[in-house]
Amino acid sequence: MLPIHPSLKGKVAVVTGGGGVLCSCMAKELARQGMKVALLNRTLEKAERIKNEIEERGGEALAISCDVLDVERVKQAAEMVADVYGPCDVLINGAGGNHPQGITTKEILELQDLENQDITTFFDLTTEGFSYVFDLNILGTIIPTQHFLKQMIGRGGTIINISSMSAPRPMTKVPAYSAAKAGIENFTKWLAVHVAEIGVRVNAIAPGFFLTKQNEHLLKQPDGSYSERTKKILAHTPMGRLGRPEDLLGTLLWLVDDQTSGFVTGTVIPVDGGFLAYAGV
Ligand code: NAD
Repeated sequence: MLPIHPSLKGKVAVVTGGGGVLCSCMAKELARQGMKVALLNRTLEKAERIKNEIEERGGEALAISCDVLDVERVKQAAEMVADVYGPCDVLINGAGGNHPQGITTKEILELQDLENQDITTFFDLTTEGFSYVFDLNILGTIIPTQHFLKQMIGRGGTIINISSMSAPRPMTKVPAYSAAKAGIENFTKWLAVHVAEIGVRVNAIAPGFFLTKQNEHLLKQPDGSYSERTKKILAHTPMGRLGRPEDLLGTLLWLVDDQTSGFVTGTVIPVDGGFLAYAGV
């Protein structure tokens, strides 16, 4: 169990994608720290399940149905949070993901693939696939930031974006996701500079490889065993395992607490078991 950060108690956290695997774990920890947590999720039931878990443990949570790409809905969610809990102190932009039309079948193109109808090459990817992934990850970070950052003006606050190892080292097969997450890192630095003088810190966490619903089809085979891709990931992760959602929490608490990271802004912190540092030899 992680130490309690007294300065977080009573503050308001908004977690987009708060019904998902990684961000629900973050939301539950922030609630355990005494924060009031608003879970914004496209699928309401997922957010409600986490809200119930938090309340069963004595915490405070609000589940809000909100597609982060729907500007009007995000605006309403921001008003709802402010009405119920007061202005947002911590925003975690966790909603994100991939799309099959942004994923190639093979890691490296071979000439004969171009004739094979069963193989999705770069040329078969659609603009719809790319747009879906760019919008969800980039606009899905920018839109909530616009609405919740406003509530931090004159009071301060902190924003955490969620990147990926795909940003600094584009993963094979997922060009749309890699470019989108690189965009998030770029935006994190831009915004950190833009709001530095109004007391808002902006950082990103870049998780390594965590087994979740979103990437299950890439990391596991239909029979549940690890795919060749996962074996490759593990061979390139010096710590020799996949991440567990709880692995993110120490970094999260450090970044959201002004008392522990008050002079840290514009950074991207890898939580990756050494993946980024390892050259593979
Ligand atoms: P997840 O699919 O479990 O969670 C994503 C959540 O976002 C889901 O609850 C989903 O309902 C919600 N969501 C999707 N689209 C939405 C929208 N338009 N509006 C509101 N909510 C929406 O995935 P996860 O693995 O927990 O991923 C969380 C974040 O971490 C994502 O940004 C992901 O890209 C990033 N990430 C994950 C990994 C990993 O290994 N799983 C690695 C690096 C980064």
